[in-house]
Amino acid sequence: MSFFNSIGRSMTRSQRGPKRSPTPTSATFSPTDSAPPTPTVAAPPVVPQPRPPLYLCSPFVEAALVKGNFKTIVMLPKYVDIMEWVAVNIFDFYTNLNEFYGVITECCTQQACPTMSAGQTLSYTWINQDRKSVHLPAPTYIDYVMTWIQNLLNDEGVFPTKSGQDFPQSFPSTVKHVYRQLLRVFAHIYHAHYHQILHLRSEPHFNSLFAHFLAFGREYELLEMKDVKGSSSAPVGIGRLWEKWRDMGLLEG
Ligand SMILES: [Zn+2]
Repeated sequence: MSFFNSIGRSMTRSQRGPKRSPTPTSATFSPTDSAPPTPTVAAPPVVPQPRPPLYLCSPFVEAALVKGNFKTIVMLPKYVDIMEWVAVNIFDFYTNLNEFYGVITECCTQQACPTMSAGQTLSYTWINQDRKSVHLPAPTYIDYVMTWIQNLLNDEGVFPTKSGQDFPQSFPSTVKHVYRQLLRVFAHIYHAHYHQILHLRSEPHFNSLFAHFLAFGREYELLEMKDVKGSSSAPVGIGRLWEKWRDMGLLEG
């Protein structure tokens, strides 16, 4: 069922259940690959290729808590209202991502991250009050995003939690905006802070959270592929990660 076509159907809903992350928490990853042998024969000089980022390299790209395709854990459970399901999952993605960012926040400073970078040639801009597109340091940008989302989640008019209260007509477009900004925060962390995630040995958790986020976004039409991949002149780093995971069978095409 399409999430966006479902608005206008039955808008009645029940009290939201306990907040619980659908992302499993048992570790199954163990690094087994070893580094390739270093060549000892003198080779002709070659133009050095830029090394791929670590999140695209084995074993990190395969590190996950969840084995197999994510499709099953994003499916709408029986008897659950689709708005409710989307709301609860967005709450969980926000909460989990906020916790990850909280851990690396001391590394994401105005000096280290003067722009909201997400690829070699890509930095996101923020639309300010004068409708002008401006570059902000990543910590400022992310603080704006997370504060904005927190305020939405606390707003009963946007994310109603009381029984008998309906979701607003604008809910699908609001959550699509939220999703787009959360994607940017993931994109910045992968691009600029993945080594810190590795240092914390959190890559299986972080990869699973992100793969779950991507699968859910695709299932409920909350994600645009152009936002995941970027443009040819300014690709998003995680666009290649999405492709790898699709090729590995984690995500649907
Ligand atoms: Zn940063």
